[in-house]
Amino acid sequence: MTTANPDFLKLQNNYLFADIARKVAAYKAAHPAQRVISLGIGDVTRPLPPAILAALHRAVEDMGEAALFRGYGPEQGYDFLRHRIIECDYATRGVRLGADEVFVSDGAKSDIGNFQELFAPNSRVAVTDPVYPVYVDSNAMAGRAGNLRGTVWDGIIYLPSTPDNDFVPEFPAVRPDIIYLCYPNNPTGAVLSRAALQAWVDYARRQNSVILYDSAYEAFITDPDVPHSIYELDGAQEVAVEFRSFSKTAGFTGLRCAYTVVPKALQISDGEGGKVSLNALWNRRQCTKYNGCPYIVQRAAEAVYSPQGQVEIKTIIAAYQKNAAQLRSAVSGMGLTVYGGLNAPYLWVSVPQGSDSWVFFDTLLQESALICTPGAGFGAAGEGYVRLTAFGAPQDTAEAIERLRRVC
Ligand code: PLP
Repeated sequence: MTTANPDFLKLQNNYLFADIARKVAAYKAAHPAQRVISLGIGDVTRPLPPAILAALHRAVEDMGEAALFRGYGPEQGYDFLRHRIIECDYATRGVRLGADEVFVSDGAKSDIGNFQELFAPNSRVAVTDPVYPVYVDSNAMAGRAGNLRGTVWDGIIYLPSTPDNDFVPEFPAVRPDIIYLCYPNNPTGAVLSRAALQAWVDYARRQNSVILYDSAYEAFITDPDVPHSIYELDGAQEVAVEFRSFSKTAGFTGLRCAYTVVPKALQISDGEGGKVSLNALWNRRQCTKYNGCPYIVQRAAEAVYSPQGQVEIKTIIAAYQKNAAQLRSAVSGMGLTVYGGLNAPYLWVSVPQGSDSWVFFDTLLQESALICTPGAGFGAAGEGYVRLTAFGAPQDTAEAIERLRRVC
């Protein structure tokens, strides 16, 4: 009989969201008249704005015209989009990159999950704790995480990010080959200052490590001291890959478009005393396993950079930011300690004394029909917190705040 990959069998089922769904279903069955509001939603709720929709429609029409029809596109993405990315997301911030250092894709999740394939199987991986689970699980699938002991993988280096270190992870005792950093952070909403991120870049240069930098929530940054791209820091092009997404920036969670920047300056060991370019390896990987993001979707992404597109997406982000600000001030007014929510759509809330992540989740569900995400689901250092998100409709956020006031 054919045997399953043992590394897949070591994975825990996605108990966090499954457990939440099960508890919410039971609550709804017991309280059919009660409207449940989710503050756990990690997805956008606003529809695509007009400029993007119009570009999508035009591109659909192109596909029906012989002269404009497109078949297989370049695996790396169309130049019309790659050039806009370089001009608008990087050149404006003083970062010099070539279009051939940008790889357009159908999502940051797939790129982040796939990128680890380029590294040797015995590479040591460091992640922050709490963590976006894709970094850990994709390495576990590749046999790089060791064994799961409770909720902790014994082959992964965890870097606690808590109020004790102001959510700035400390350098590990053991040298990692690969370091996953995510700022603005999911789930804590924390950001790194320019100086703190520079320190990580310098560390990676000293240690010859690679940073995989996930900036899916870059559009939510408001603080001028917070870099939007890791390449704003000196030397970062020699050590860092950056993942960006149109999902949360422009409402593309359903449409699917993202991009990964792999600078040509980034070289790693070939294991035989020489060096190899990660850009060349990623290009090779994408050309073999990927056939490109759809033309119509890339045209829609291009429209994000048009003057009208920029105004429209900024209006949407501002509405989410307003939700975050209102939630933050209401929750701290209730005497709970709250982190994040200033440069991110996520708020990280300390549960009341005597409670824990899941107990507080149950309290909010049972007493106010609110859904949050228990922090313990994001890692051991997430115990004692819940994550609230600002992606809901404004009227739902306002009602959620009223309900929170009644229980907290
Ligand atoms: N990175 C982080 C930190 C996320 O939270 C998410 C989605 O929730 C993603 C990446 C996935 O982005 P995409 O929709 O482009 O796959």
